[in-house]
Amino acid sequence: MGKVVYYLTPSSFCFGVERAVNGLSAIVASHQPNGQAGPGDKVFCVHALVHNPKVTKDFEDRGVAFVESIYDIPDDDAVVVFSAHGINRVVLEQARARFKAVYNLECPFVSKIYQEVDASLQKGISTFFYVGKKYHQEKKNVVDYIQAKGGTVYVFQNKDQIPRIDPAVPLAALSQTTMDYAHVCDILKEIKKRYPLAQLLLLSDVCKATYERQVIVSDNLDKFEAFVVIGGKESNNSKELSDIGIKYGKKTFYGENLDDILTYPKEELFACDTVAVTGGASTPAEDIKAVFDFYRENGYEPKMLSL
Ligand code: SF4
Repeated sequence: MGKVVYYLTPSSFCFGVERAVNGLSAIVASHQPNGQAGPGDKVFCVHALVHNPKVTKDFEDRGVAFVESIYDIPDDDAVVVFSAHGINRVVLEQARARFKAVYNLECPFVSKIYQEVDASLQKGISTFFYVGKKYHQEKKNVVDYIQAKGGTVYVFQNKDQIPRIDPAVPLAALSQTTMDYAHVCDILKEIKKRYPLAQLLLLSDVCKATYERQVIVSDNLDKFEAFVVIGGKESNNSKELSDIGIKYGKKTFYGENLDDILTYPKEELFACDTVAVTGGASTPAEDIKAVFDFYRENGYEPKMLSL
């Protein structure tokens, strides 16, 4: 067999990212119709709308300012937008009370986690295990919300970090939407084993988009030796894809775009005859395609692999 480059789908924008990008575009169009912020209609987005710098830059060019907190917004007349990663409900209410207009572009899969927290609290469960990344925005907001409601939450990423608590304490397990699905299920199984008497709700919150982008990789591991993942440096679902490649011994390259990939030595990029190219849920399709085309132009036969 000659050299082959595979384009994996699904890859690139998921439903939640499309929804957030289209939502902010519509907000910009209605509040800054000339593409320029004028008095009283400045749009502020709290945190990157999605974790891709190209998307951020595109909205900055259209007059949107990105901040990390509502307290960074100087003007009560501002239009405030919350990103796809979700927002602590207490902060959301504070924003609604203060600003001219507030839009929450949180992905519905993230909203589901807040519903799970509320439902658990109503049942008297105020202790939570959260499987996720310590510094991720989605985690930060969920944890802040649980704590604001008087709950206790333990955040960890691996099985060996499962906390030891009183097994009689009613407990709910939550997870970040963009974690590795198999990894989360493994941890949830272990939690169940260790806390058999606890009132334990096992709720895998890994979203369908994340799961499907992982399955197309893990189902086709026998077809490629090298693996290129395109994603923002803060994009957790992109990093999880890259980790699958590393875990299964693939020569794995990670970058935000073709320029990043070209910083790897050419002999490494072309060391393998079979290469798969993908990108996370916040990666623009053209950035994945640019890498796919790069291999095609360098003698690799292009093929598609879909679920
Ligand atoms: S990766 Fe999942 S949770 Fe995140 S925006 Fe996309 S669909 Fe929503």
